Formats: sequence, structure tokens, C-alpha cells
Amino acid sequence: MIQHISRMLIVGIAYYLFARVGATYTVLDVGISVLWLANAVLLAAFLIFPPRQWPWMALMALGAELLAAQSLFPLLASLAFGLINIFEAALAAWLIRSSTADSFDFDHIASASRFLVFGPVLASCLAGLMGASVYVWLGQDVSNYWSLWRLWWFGDALGLLLMTPLLVALWRFMGRELPAFKPWRLLELAALWSVLLLIAPLAFQPLSGDVQEFTLTPIVLLPLGLWAAIRFGVLVTVTTLVLIAGLAIGYLADEVYPYGSSSPQNAVWLTQEFLAILAVVSIGLSVLLAEIRQQNLELEKRILERTSSLARANAELNTANERLQTLVSTDFLTGIANRRSFDENGMRILQQMQREGTPVSAIMFDLDHFKKVNDVLGHDAGDLVLRSIVAPVAAVLRPMDLFCRYGGEEFLLLLPGADLEEAASIAERIRHTIEDLEVRYQQESIRVTISLGVAQWDGKQQLDQLVHASDTALYDAKHSGRNCVRLSGNGATGVDAQT
Ligand code: GH3
Ligand code: MG
Ligand code: MG
Repeated sequence: MIQHISRMLIVGIAYYLFARVGATYTVLDVGISVLWLANAVLLAAFLIFPPRQWPWMALMALGAELLAAQSLFPLLASLAFGLINIFEAALAAWLIRSSTADSFDFDHIASASRFLVFGPVLASCLAGLMGASVYVWLGQDVSNYWSLWRLWWFGDALGLLLMTPLLVALWRFMGRELPAFKPWRLLELAALWSVLLLIAPLAFQPLSGDVQEFTLTPIVLLPLGLWAAIRFGVLVTVTTLVLIAGLAIGYLADEVYPYGSSSPQNAVWLTQEFLAILAVVSIGLSVLLAEIRQQNLELEKRILERTSSLARANAELNTANERLQTLVSTDFLTGIANRRSFDENGMRILQQMQREGTPVSAIMFDLDHFKKVNDVLGHDAGDLVLRSIVAPVAAVLRPMDLFCRYGGEEFLLLLPGADLEEAASIAERIRHTIEDLEVRYQQESIRVTISLGVAQWDGKQQLDQLVHASDTALYDAKHSGRNCVRLSGNGATGVDAQT
């Protein structure tokens, strides 16, 4: 409630102040202002606040109008002027809002062009027709009707064009987070406005005397409007334009006329046209750039989202790949390497050892009479035994040794750096470990033994040849009574098993 009342008061006070300014800076004796800003306040309020608050704001505006025009016109004429102004703002706001989104802002070229067409072009033109009629009724010459209409129209249109975007942009700006403070931006802004203040006198005040060949016109200020539009956005652009308009009107009031014009009416028209063109071009450009920037931001956001979802998918794929890789190279029952992984890594190790001239040995072992375990206690017991021998064997090995389930109940070891003698002693330790192992299955205690065949790589053999040699030694061990180690080529190790 308090918020609403303060809004009405602000609208009323601003309308009054701008109406006073408008009434003061009238150049022609008829009292039409060069620039009528009050309607812009009302239109900005209508564009920002919901329509149910419009009647109260209109009422405030009417009161302000009567107060401001008190000494200038008869009461009835002031009332008519006030109603015409309210009609103008309401018509424009209604047309603009019914064709744009709920929250109107100068951030899209579509909404800005609707504002231009319905506000300064259409509503001000209609208001001009009515306003000129009131002037005729007040005693102005009827033959003056169209020039009065034009002055009214352009004065109102300019006011809307300059002040409404400023007020709306300012309101929206206050609702937003403040942009990051960048000192060099402020410096640039100071430079822009300093250049403006330096050039303005030259632009509006043609060189007097005989030097008529080189006369600057206000159009030299256009680059400054474009500078503001390109570098700073809508708010600074309209502020710059209001500054230019203020200077232009100040010179007019001092009877300094641009374009070498000598008639006041002509000077007013020319100034109005210049300001209108400057405003449409500069504000249009700033709105267009704001829209493009917004679109780029949205695009960037979408690209970022896509990229991160792609990265996520990629990471998931990598994890899945790693799991697949592990799955493919792991024996599902025991969890150690399978034959495929052994072949891949074994080949790599042999190549490396060949370069280094290091010995490599292989041990193949097979559970003795394993079929019996399956037959007597069942397949689950057999599986448990297969799983149970893995950890004790691994405990004997070094990190670089390869240990794989070669198939069924056969296991294969590759020992880089171990010659036949070292490999034989490792094989013997493994044999002992398994011999001592007790596997508990339900109420049963299972004991197994293994037979092992050891072969040393001759430095030239392929991996399968080395495996074959260890397999032959294993065959030997089986035939020597099992639970023993046999070496490729030369038979048993020193510590032989029982037969
Ligand atoms: P030997 O001392 O001559 O090696 O006798 P053995 O009974 O161990 O030999 P054989 O090759 O005749 O039998 C191997 C058995 O191993 C046959 C099969 O039932 C069993 N086996 C192979 N793979 C698995 C497995 O994954 N789980 C279980 N429970 N048994 C398996
Ligand atoms: Mg066996
Ligand atoms: Mg076997």
C-alpha cells in the first residue's frame, strides 16, 4: 500500500517537474514546448506498472498538469491538455503492452519498434491533432493548425523517445544486480561525455561572420550516440541523448539556432528532427546490440550445458570401458587374470626382457585329482577350492609376476627376472603352500595338492612355446606321481615330492 502511494507520488512529482521544465523552455510565443517530457513519465509508469494502477497515476498526472500550467492557460484549457496527455500515454501503453510480453523492456528490437510506432509516431500524432484544436479554440489562427499540430507532435514524440527509454531502463537497471565495477569503463564514459561537451558548442553554434563555408551541424554528434550504443548499452545511450537534447534546447532558449537558421520556428523544427533521428538511430542500435548480446549469452549457456553433459557422458563411457576392460581380462571365478590377459601382457613382458637381456620363467600348475573333489563334494566345493588357492599363491609372488587361470583347474605364472633355478624354488614354495592349505566346505575339510612344471625362456621363444614347455614339464610332474615340481628339459628339482 505504502509502496503504491509512493509510486503515485513519484509519478505525480516527476510529471509536475517535467511539465514545469517543458513550460519554461517554450521557444514560441504560443507556448508549445520544444520538448515535452511529462508524458514520458506517464508512459514509462504505464509500461512498468500493472494497468489497475493506471487510473491513480493518471489522476496524479492531471493534478500535476493543472498545477504546472496554472499561470499559463485558462483552467479548462489546462484540463483539456492534461486529458490529451493522459490519452496519449494510455493509448501508447495499451497498444505496446498488448503486443509485447508482460514485462516491457528496451531489450528487444521488436518491443522497441512497437514502442516507436505506437508511442512517438501514432499516439503523439493523434494527441497533436487534439492539442492543436485546443490552441485554435484558445484563439490561435486556424491557418496555423498544421504547424501547431506538427510542433505538438514532435515535442511529445521527442519527449517519449528520449525520456521513456531512460526511465524504463533505469527502473529495470535498479532491479538488477550491479555490473562489476570496471574503472576503465568509467574513464571511457567520462571521455565520451567530455568529448560531447567539447563538440556541442561547435555543433549547435554555427560559426558567425564571413567563415560560412565551414559550418558544423549537430549531426557531428551522431558518432557520440553510436559510441554510447556500441560500448555502453541502452541506459548510457539514452542518458547521453538526454544530455544532447538538454544542450540543444539550452542553445535554442538562448536564441542560438542550429543549421544557420534565423527563424525560431524553423530552428525548433530542425532541432526536433535532428534529435528524433539521433534518438531512433542510437537507441535502435543499442537495443539491437543488447538483444544480440543476450542471444549470445543464451547460446553460450546452451553450449556450456551441452559440453558439460557431453563430458559427463564421456566420463561414464570411460568408466564403463574400464569396467569392460577389467571384465574382459579377468577370470570371473577367481578374480585373477584370464588367459587372454596373460597372452597380451606376457608378450609385452617377453619383448621388454628381450631388450634388457633378463631371464624369464614360466610355471604351469594343475590340481591333482581335482575331478574327485567335484565328484565327491560337488561342483560348488570345487569352485571354492579354485577360489581358495588364489590368495596363498599370490602371496608368494612379486608384484611384476603374472598369475592367471589358464583354464579349468590349470594356472599359469610368468616370472620376469627369474631363471630356472629361482623359478623352481618359487614353484616349490607354492607347492608347499597349497599342500598346507585347508579349505573348509560346510562340515568338510578339503585338502588338495598341485603338480607344477617349470620352464625358462630361451630368449627367442614365442610365449606359446614357453607355455608349451612348462606344460610338458607339468605333464612330467603328473607322471612322476603328482604333488611335485618338474623342470623343462632336465627333470625334477632337488626338493622332490612324495610319489
Ligand atoms: P589330474 O590330477 O590328472 O589333473 O586329475 P584331474 O581329475 O584333476 O584331471 P581332469 O582333467 O581329468 O579333471 C579336471 C576337472 O576339473 C574336470 C572338471 O570337472 C574340473 N573343473 C574344471 N574347471 C572347473 C571349474 O571351473 N569348477 C569346478 N568345480 N570344477 C572344474
Ligand atoms: Mg587336474
Ligand atoms: Mg587338468
